[in-house]
Amino acid sequence: MFSDIPVDVSPMHEGERIRAANMYVELAGPKSIGAELVQVDDSVEDGKYEVIGPELSEMTKGEIYPFCIKIGIKGEKLEKELEGVIERRNHDLCNYVQGFMHLNQRDQIWCRVSTEAIGTGFKLVDLAKAIGILFKEEFPIIEEISVAILTKEEEVKDFVNKAREIYSTRDERARELSDEDVDVFYGCTMCQSFAPTHMCVVTPDRTALCGAINWFDCRASAKMDPDGSIFEIDKGEVLDGMKGEYTNVNNLISQKTQGETERVYLHSVFEYPHTSCGCFEAVAFYIPELDGIGIVNRDFPNQTPLGIPFSSMAGQCSGGKQVEGFTGLSLEYMRSPKFLQADGAYERIVWLPNEVKESLKGFIPEDLFDKIPTEEDATTINDIKAFLIEKNHPILERLDNASDDAKEELSEKKISEEELSENVSLDEVTEANQEFIPITSIPEMTMPISGGTKIIFKNAKIYAEKVIIKKK
Ligand code: SF4
Repeated sequence: MFSDIPVDVSPMHEGERIRAANMYVELAGPKSIGAELVQVDDSVEDGKYEVIGPELSEMTKGEIYPFCIKIGIKGEKLEKELEGVIERRNHDLCNYVQGFMHLNQRDQIWCRVSTEAIGTGFKLVDLAKAIGILFKEEFPIIEEISVAILTKEEEVKDFVNKAREIYSTRDERARELSDEDVDVFYGCTMCQSFAPTHMCVVTPDRTALCGAINWFDCRASAKMDPDGSIFEIDKGEVLDGMKGEYTNVNNLISQKTQGETERVYLHSVFEYPHTSCGCFEAVAFYIPELDGIGIVNRDFPNQTPLGIPFSSMAGQCSGGKQVEGFTGLSLEYMRSPKFLQADGAYERIVWLPNEVKESLKGFIPEDLFDKIPTEEDATTINDIKAFLIEKNHPILERLDNASDDAKEELSEKKISEEELSENVSLDEVTEANQEFIPITSIPEMTMPISGGTKIIFKNAKIYAEKVIIKKK
């Protein structure tokens, strides 16, 4: 079947990485543009595999090129709702091709071709052909298929814009429903090939963290193949509607992750957050100093306020781990009315990249929009804090309440108001003591620091430091 393709095509090549030293060219990715799109199309010419733009032989070693994969499919039982799920398989299937690496999804794809593959005479048209054959094998309902690879800059730009419009239409449709309107959620284990203890829970209010699959896509996929990697979850009893905890979600996640994860809160980063495979579009992370939550997306190139970039943070909380204080999410979930509702939703967000904030106009409550800083306003914890104070962000109320609790604790210790007074001159002082005032406690939290090292806090309390002055 693949006899005229000069490299091997098999699932055994999934997971092979092509490092920069071994790379012939990079395609799409953060330094260029690209997209992948599957569309049901009655005008498909079966078996048409083509490259529009320069082939690999016309590219220069070490360079980066724009790149799109356009797939047309036709079949009597094919529904438009299946496009998103079929498209998501492009990631796995491209990685079956030896010497070709595919990361991410939609307009985030990032691909590389190895120098060894070029040595065999491998071309992009071979990739197109391999994808066409693999899709027909994996989805027997695809009767006809065509694959076009685009590498010409103008064509790629136009195609990316068109693809983005189609992604938006798919996402908008998913907003028609909410979690309460349905009895069934969906589980997806497609990413278990590299994150064996990860299962996504897809609900109307929480699209998959890869951003490529919504509740409608899952419904169509589970109908087509009930034994496949996307399956129904009968919600069962609601244990906590605010946090998004359901009996059957817990049961199934425990079963599908070999008991690694037993409980999941769909709408919180605390205690039992949704696990993360590695395909997430963004990460929500707790900032203990501010008792707030920051968000960073995959495209953000700089350090986050935690002092590490997206890539380091992703490394610490991916692979199917449940790491309290962190959760991978899709950008679409940030448009959901249930977005981190148990944690305070946008009232708890204290930092996010400007690009993400701009894309959420109309979804972030109007009175909060200007109160949330981006990298253009502040990058360090101290600067963020100053910004939050200047803008009167609602997180200050949380911090004030925490201080009130602390004051109560202090009064229990019978420390007089006089002792708390700050208006004391030096010659009146007999004694100055340091007090540590408990603000909040965390059952368990992992904080990544540079170089792949992490700090694990267990049953940790966060204290504010205060100097208590006693007068003569
Ligand atoms: S990120 Fe989740 S929903 Fe998306 S393909 Fe992977 S397991 Fe499925």
